[in-house]
Amino acid sequence: MSVSHFSPRDPKPKRDPLALAPEECGRGHACQFCPEESSCRLEKGHHEKQLLESRLAQIGQIIMVMANKGGVGKSTISSNLAAGLAERGYRVGVADADIHGPNQSRFFGFVGERVRLDERGLGPRAFTATGLDYPILVGSLAFMMESDDTPIVWRDAYKHDFMHHLIGSFDWGPLDFLVIDMPPGTGNELITLADLLEGHDVAALLATTPQEVALMDSLKAVRFCQERGMPLLGVVENMAGVTCPHCGGEFHLFPRDHLAAALNEVGVSSLAQIPLSPTLASGSDAGRPIVLDAPQSAEARAFAPAVDACIAHARVGFAAAAADSLRAMGQEATQSAEIEEALAAVPAEQRESVRSELAALFGHQPQPPAGQDDSSG
Ligand code: SF4
Repeated sequence: MSVSHFSPRDPKPKRDPLALAPEECGRGHACQFCPEESSCRLEKGHHEKQLLESRLAQIGQIIMVMANKGGVGKSTISSNLAAGLAERGYRVGVADADIHGPNQSRFFGFVGERVRLDERGLGPRAFTATGLDYPILVGSLAFMMESDDTPIVWRDAYKHDFMHHLIGSFDWGPLDFLVIDMPPGTGNELITLADLLEGHDVAALLATTPQEVALMDSLKAVRFCQERGMPLLGVVENMAGVTCPHCGGEFHLFPRDHLAAALNEVGVSSLAQIPLSPTLASGSDAGRPIVLDAPQSAEARAFAPAVDACIAHARVGFAAAAADSLRAMGQEATQSAEIEEALAAVPAEQRESVRSELAALFGHQPQPPAGQDDSSG
C-alpha cells in the first residue's frame, strides 16, 4: 500500500517543483556542481534555497534516527527501518548524514559506487528487492569520496554545506518517508539539519544500547528533541538480548531495568528491542537489510514496532495535510464565481440555508465575493 500525501495536500495541478521561475536557472543541482558557476550572474543563495524547498515539498515524513553515542547500531537501525517502511509499500529514501561513518552505501550493497550528476541533481542509488513496490533510494557521502577508506577531515563549514547537499542536491523525487541516519551526538550537523528542516514534518527515533553510559548520553538527545519541540517517537534498544545458539534460550548481556525506568521518567517509550545477533550484523555487511532478507526471523520482526510507530505518526500528519487541503478546496469552491452564480439562482429566502449546507460540508462559512450584496434577490 502506498500513501500519497501529495495529492490531498495540493489539490490544484501544480508546476513541477524543479521547473523554476523565469529568473531561475532550472537546474536541479547545486551551484557548486555547476559548469557555469564562474560566469553565472544569478543569485546563487536563492537558487540553493529554492532547490532545498523543492526537494522538501516532495517529501512526506522525515525520520531522524539519532544516537548520542557511536557504536550503538544507529545505521543498522536506520537501514532496517527504511527497509521495513519500503516493505509496507511506501516510497522511502535514506539520507546518510553520518559524515565520519557513512555506512548506508555498504548496508544497501553499494560499496565502491560513485555519484552521478545531471541536470536534476545527484542521483541517489536505488536498492531493489523482491516484494518492494518502490526501490529504496540511498544518498550518501560515500558516493562522493575517492575511496571508501578516505577519512573525512572537514571544518564545520564543509559539514554544513554537505547537509544542504544531502537534502537539496540529491534528486529524491516524491517520497513518503526520508530516513536520515544522523551522526552521533547533538553537535553541529544535528543543529544544521534541524534548522534546515524547520517547518517540515520531522520526527526523531533514538537508538541506544542498555549500558548505563549509553543511556546517560541518550538522555541528552531526548532533551535536545524536547527543547527543539521535535516529536520523539521513542527509543530502539539495540543489543537488547542474546539468543543462545545452543539451547535457544534468551539472556541479557546488560540489565535493562534502569533504561526502562529512566525513559519512563522522561516520558519516552521503548519501542523495540533488537537482539544482539551475528545474523543481523552479517546481513548489514552483505548489503541486505535483514528485514527484507529474512522477514520471518526474530531479528527482522523486532523492528516491526518501530516501523509501526513511524507509520502511525506519519498518518496523523498525512491526515492533517489532507484536511487542510480539503478546507482549502472548500474555501476556493465556496468563493468561486460558479458557486456564486449558482447561489444567485437560488431564491433569496433559501440562499442562507444553502450557504449553511455548504459551510457544513466544507467546515467554514462561505463568503460572498467582495462587494456583492447578498441580500438582493
Ligand atoms: S551557478 Fe547555480 S544558479 Fe547559476 S546556472 Fe549554475 S546552478 Fe544555476
